[in-house]
Order: sequence, then structure tokens, then C-alpha cells
Amino acid sequence: MATIIDGNALAAAVRERAAVGARSLRDRGLTPCLAVVLVGDDPGSASYVRMKERDCAAVGIESRDHRLPAETTQAELEALVDALNADVAVHGILVQMPLPAHLDPEAIIERISPAKDVDGFHPESLGRLVRGLPGFRACTPAGVMEMLRAYDIDPTGMRAVVVGRSTIVGKPMALLLLEANATVTVCHSRTRDLPGVCRQADLLVAAIGRPKMIDASYVKPGAVVIDVGINRTEEGMVGDVDFASVQPVASAITPVPGGVGPMTRAMLMVNTIAAAEAACC
Ligand code: NDP
Repeated sequence: MATIIDGNALAAAVRERAAVGARSLRDRGLTPCLAVVLVGDDPGSASYVRMKERDCAAVGIESRDHRLPAETTQAELEALVDALNADVAVHGILVQMPLPAHLDPEAIIERISPAKDVDGFHPESLGRLVRGLPGFRACTPAGVMEMLRAYDIDPTGMRAVVVGRSTIVGKPMALLLLEANATVTVCHSRTRDLPGVCRQADLLVAAIGRPKMIDASYVKPGAVVIDVGINRTEEGMVGDVDFASVQPVASAITPVPGGVGPMTRAMLMVNTIAAAEAACC
């Protein structure tokens, strides 16, 4: 039976670490500040924003809430990002995705100052990751790496398979695992014999967006299985991994909820403290 990797407990520890950083900054006269921008009234996005603001309050980060109507134009949103870039009291900028369909998310992400890119989505942040330079790492894959460290799972020499190649999860996940000396394969919707490729993995990361797609037939006995998926179904929130089927086969597994999700939010706090530190000294 697999060890269950407790994302809630780990996230609490990471937030505590961030809170120590926040206190130290305040002692030096600087209040770390995250600007959170939400366009439109998507209830899912609004609930994510509320949770991030709650995390900020718990850690000692000031959060500045910018709620814009759904009909906000590209120029208006860019003007807000420009103002936040120029505001020395703001250290991190988070524009909640997805944006309403008439807005261009890539242009907005590129507009954010790389020094305030606490989501780690800016091309400069991704470029620095590719080049192995320090910089903001996307919160979800960074949270997964933190989980592996906390459970003494060293990817060195492991065959890692990442299912999903998005810019926010799959690609940076693969790069972070490569940086940690895993031998990495990235799979996607056109991969042939996906179960066969996954069964070679010592470490399997599912970032697909398909409820419970990864069952025991995809998993090598003893593999570490990380479930990034968040799928809202009639039975509630489920991951991309069929937990009941995989837990008996894997050596360690993340649950959904209570796995990668809380770690993603915690890493946003870590990145915001790092941005404030960089601005401080
Ligand atoms: P995307 O939709 O951007 O990417 C999904 C990826 O999965 C694509 O690369 C796609 O392939 C691949 N894929 C889809 N169907 C299949 C299939 N049948 N077989 C193999 N590969 C497939 O999603 P995201 O990366 O943004 O998110 C993935 C999941 O993670 C979602 O459930 C999302 O909600 C969740 N998520 C969770 C977070 C957290 O904090 N826990 C944070 C961010 C996301 P192709 O490229 O060929 O289309």
C-alpha cells in the first residue's frame, strides 16, 4: 500500500517558512505585497483568489485585490499591469487565469515585470528554468518538487514520465525533474501506447485534466505517483489518477484533494516572499 503524501501538512509547513520570511522582511521595514487581479465573475476563479488572499493573510503578506468587470478591455488590463509593475510597494503580481475569451493571456503574462512574476509563467522565468538559472518557478511543479524532497524521494536516476505538456504544469515539471537528474519522458494526447510508456516510470506525474484516467494498468509496482489533476465531477473533486486502483500498486501517491493543490498555493507565498526579498536588498 502506497504512502499517502500529505499535501495539506506540507503546505502548512511551507507557509510557516514563508511566514518567517515575511516577519524578517517586516522587521527590516518592508511589507511583502501581492497584487491579485481577477477579471470577470467566474466562480471557480473567484474561489481560487479568495483562498490565495487567505493564505497571504496567514503568512503576513499584504494582498491587494483588483477586481475588474468581465468587459474590461485588453488596454485597461495592460494599464493596470503597468501600474502594478511601477508600484514599488507591490512585489508580486498574479493575474488569475483563465481570462475572459476576448483578452489575450499571453500578452498579459508578458507584460508582467519578470521581477514580479510570482506565478512563474513569464517567458523570461521559463527561459531561466530552461537555462538552469535562478528565477521564479511555476508554483505547481515547484510544489511537486518540494513534496518529493519532503518525502526523501530523490529523482536522480529515476525514469520519470510526465503526462501533459502544458506551459504551466507539464513542461516546467519535466524541466525541474531533468534538473533533479531524472530521465524524463513527456507524454501527451498523441503519445502511442500511453499505458506502456507510463508503466516504465519510477515516478509518474499526471497533469492531464481527465478524471481518474490513470488506473493501475498504467503504473509499475512501487512507482511514485503524483496526481496534479483537478476535475470537478458529480462525485466531487477528483484527480487524473484513480486513487483506489493505484494506491495498492504505488509506493507513494498524492491524494486529490489534499495533495498538489495546497502545495501550489503555498509555493505562491514562497515566490512572493522571494520577490520581496529581492526588492528589499
Ligand atoms: P492542459 O489542458 O493545458 O493540458 C493537458 C495536457 O494533457 C495536454 O498536454 C494534453 O495533450 C494532455 N492530454 C489530454 N488528454 C490526454 C490523453 N487522453 N492522453 C494523454 N495526454 C492527454 O491542462 P493543465 O496542464 O493546465 O492542467 C492539467 C490538470 O492539472 C487539470 O486537471 C488542471 O485542473 C490541473 N491543475 C492543477 C493544479 C494544481 O494546483 N493542482 C494547477 C494547474 C492545473 P495535448 O498537448 O496533446 O493536447
